[in-house]
Amino acid sequence: MSYDDGSYEAVPGERLLDPEAGSEEAALESALRPRTLDSFIGQQRVKDQLGLVLEAAVARGRAADHVLLAGPPGLGKTTLSMIIAAELGVPLRVTSGPALQHAGDLAAVLSSLVPGEVLFLDEIHRMSRAAEEMLYLAMEDFRVDVIVGKGPGATAIPLELPPFTLVGATTRAGLLPGPLRDRFGFTAHMDFYDAADLERILARSASLLDVPLAAEAGAEIAGRSRGTPRVANRLLRRVRDFAQVRGDGTVDLGVAHAALDLYEVDAIGLDRLDRAVLDALLRRFGGGPVGLSTLAVAVGEESETVETVCEPFLVRAGLLARTPRGRIATPAAWSHLGLAVPPATGAAGTAPLPFETSVGEEPSESG
Ligand code: ADP
Repeated sequence: MSYDDGSYEAVPGERLLDPEAGSEEAALESALRPRTLDSFIGQQRVKDQLGLVLEAAVARGRAADHVLLAGPPGLGKTTLSMIIAAELGVPLRVTSGPALQHAGDLAAVLSSLVPGEVLFLDEIHRMSRAAEEMLYLAMEDFRVDVIVGKGPGATAIPLELPPFTLVGATTRAGLLPGPLRDRFGFTAHMDFYDAADLERILARSASLLDVPLAAEAGAEIAGRSRGTPRVANRLLRRVRDFAQVRGDGTVDLGVAHAALDLYEVDAIGLDRLDRAVLDALLRRFGGGPVGLSTLAVAVGEESETVETVCEPFLVRAGLLARTPRGRIATPAAWSHLGLAVPPATGAAGTAPLPFETSVGEEPSESG
């Protein structure tokens, strides 16, 4: 949400380029989800490995190994969990880490599973410690100990569970305790999609939505989608609106350009806030180094928003680097905003630092 004074408030999914889903987006998304492993586009390595795990389970007639899906939001983790259940021909139960604050919450879910069922546990890194400990035993022995009573009189009653397959999803695999990670038979690390895969995803979505989409327009939208199918599909919906209101419904290159310009999504997928951050870093602070909080004040935004909403993509795009001394701009940032790289920018004039280019890691400084 942006205000007249140019400041922003981050609401998940409300920002056009937010990789998280908005509250009303789920229904729109479900129509576009691929239902089989074959129709899931890209992530070939993950698909090959997962396909093998599932086929082996079907051949053995047993519940499949537990699967951990790790990667940034919007890359298809929920979709894959649905595909896993469908390919195994078993029902799917969906819950999430934040919903399991007490061990009892988890016990209730586990004890009501049917044999072979897939349990999708989103944001598994946000589960409570008590639920996590119960989950260890459940994953390994298909059993939980339900504690009845309190204090010295408390007793543990063992409860047998039907065999099930846990599919855990996390955007922060590094936050998972080792013992939990070790209990997954297979971990899929999902990567951002390349332009060619995003074009295929867009072509598929356009045909499901009955939108005539020219190939060059698909390529243009793909290039601005930050490697994320959720963002690609969202941009497609906005461009479709534009085409229907201002044109005859066909999305050609001209329509895609005009619509994306109207929504202020630039050629590499930066929006107004991203560009404001870069602009402040370059023009006000000479390319840095500058502390996060100073940078945030300069754009009238909370530090957390700048850090979690803008920076991951700016870092990944090689425009900004986080260093122990503060944020610095790379030469690519200057040229992206059409500015000449000043000769005396020192550290700011060096190439992106390899140790700073990962996404989703903790920042090396916070103020
Ligand atoms: P996550 O759970 O990782 O946040 P989702 O599974 O909810 O992501 O996917 C977000 C959207 O992107 C869904 O609408 C889904 O249809 C689409 N999507 C994700 N991955 C793919 C893919 N490989 N092929 C086609 N569509 C995809």
